Amino acid sequence: MSDAESVAVGRRAAEELAPLLARHKTSRLLLVTGKSSYQLSGAEAALAPLLGGLDVAHFSDFSPNPTLEEVEAGVAIWRSQKPDLVLVVGGGSALDLAKMINGLAASRESARDLLTGVVSLEGSSVPCIAVPTTSGSGAETTHFAAVYVDGKKYSVTHESLRPTYCILDASLTHSLPSYLTAATGMDALAQAIESYWSVRSTAESRRHSAEAIELCAPALGNWGEASVSTAPTPAAREALMQGSHLAGKAIDIARTTAPHALSYVLTTDFGVTHGHAVALTLGSVFSFNAQASESASIEVASLAALQQTMGELSVLLKCPDGEATAARLKAMMKACGLQTQLRDVGVTRSDLPRLVASVNPQRLKNNPRTLSSEDLGVILEAVY
Ligand SMILES: [Zn+2]
Repeated sequence: MSDAESVAVGRRAAEELAPLLARHKTSRLLLVTGKSSYQLSGAEAALAPLLGGLDVAHFSDFSPNPTLEEVEAGVAIWRSQKPDLVLVVGGGSALDLAKMINGLAASRESARDLLTGVVSLEGSSVPCIAVPTTSGSGAETTHFAAVYVDGKKYSVTHESLRPTYCILDASLTHSLPSYLTAATGMDALAQAIESYWSVRSTAESRRHSAEAIELCAPALGNWGEASVSTAPTPAAREALMQGSHLAGKAIDIARTTAPHALSYVLTTDFGVTHGHAVALTLGSVFSFNAQASESASIEVASLAALQQTMGELSVLLKCPDGEATAARLKAMMKACGLQTQLRDVGVTRSDLPRLVASVNPQRLKNNPRTLSSEDLGVILEAVY
C-alpha cells in the first residue's frame, strides 16, 4: 500500500494498520471513535494490541450530528496531544469530526470562522487513517465534512480533509444493528444514484456510481429477497462496504442532490437517521426526474440527456422504467425493514410546507431537473 494507492480493501484492519503506524514512526496518536461502536464493532479488540505502546489521546465525546463545540473540544485535545497521526474508527459522524479536527488544529483562525466559510482552511495537520465501521457515508474518501453551527448545517470543503489512508474491513460492520445497516446502506445507494444524475457528474464519477449501484442494490434486497440488514451474510456486508466507498468517491466529485437536500430537516427536527431520511424521498425524486417531458421547464438537449441518464439508472437497477425503479426502491426499503412514508416517522401533513421551506436552494442546484416549491410539495405529498 503506497500513498497514491491508499485504500486497503477486504483486509483485516489490524494487518493494514501496523505498517502504517511504523511508516509514520508513530509515538503520539489521536484516536477518534464513536462512543460505543469502537467496542461493539470489534475494532477495539482488533486494534488495541497495536496501540498499547503508544501515547494515545482518545476522543469519543460527540453527538451523531457533530457541532462546532464538539469540533472545538477535539481541536483542544489535538493541540495538547500533538499527535504524529490521527486514527479514526467509526461511522460517518466520527469520520467527519476527525477530518475537521485534523483540518483545523494547525490553523490560528477560529473554528467558527473556518467551519462557516468566513475564512478558508489551509491544510491538514498530520496524516489521517480512516477505518469505517458502517457502510454508508463514504466519508473515508470525501474532501468535505458536515457540521452544525448554531443549529444550522454547514458543509466544510477542502482537499486536505480527505483522509490520507482508509482501511475497508467489512468484518467491523458484522455487529451493526439491522436498522443502522439499512439506513447507512440506503444512504450509500442514494449517494450512488444522486451522484449519477447530478449535473456535476463526470465520466469518472459515473463509473464509480454505476459500480456502487451494482454492489449495493442486490445487497439491500428486493421483492421478497433477503436483505443485508435482516439476513446479513459476510459477502453482502463486503459488497455494501465496497459499494459505499465507491459511492463516496462519486459524491466526492459530483455531490448529492434533492433527496439529500430534503433530508436534513427530517434529521434535525424529526430525529430520523440520515440514510433513512434520504431514502424516504429517493423514489419520489426518481419519478420526478424520470417524468421530465417537453412540458417541464427544461431545454430540449438537456431533456434528452436527462431521459438517457434516467434510462441508464433504471437499467442499473434492473427495471424497465422510472416508475418501476421508484417502486423497487420502496420495496428495497421494506425488505430492509425501513418505514417508507413520512407519516411513519412523525411528520404530519401540516408539517409539509415547513419541510419545503427548509430546503436550502443551493443544495438543489445539482439536481438535473429544476425544482420549484410546488414540485417539492408534490414529491413530499407522494411519500406522505
Ligand atoms: Zn448521505
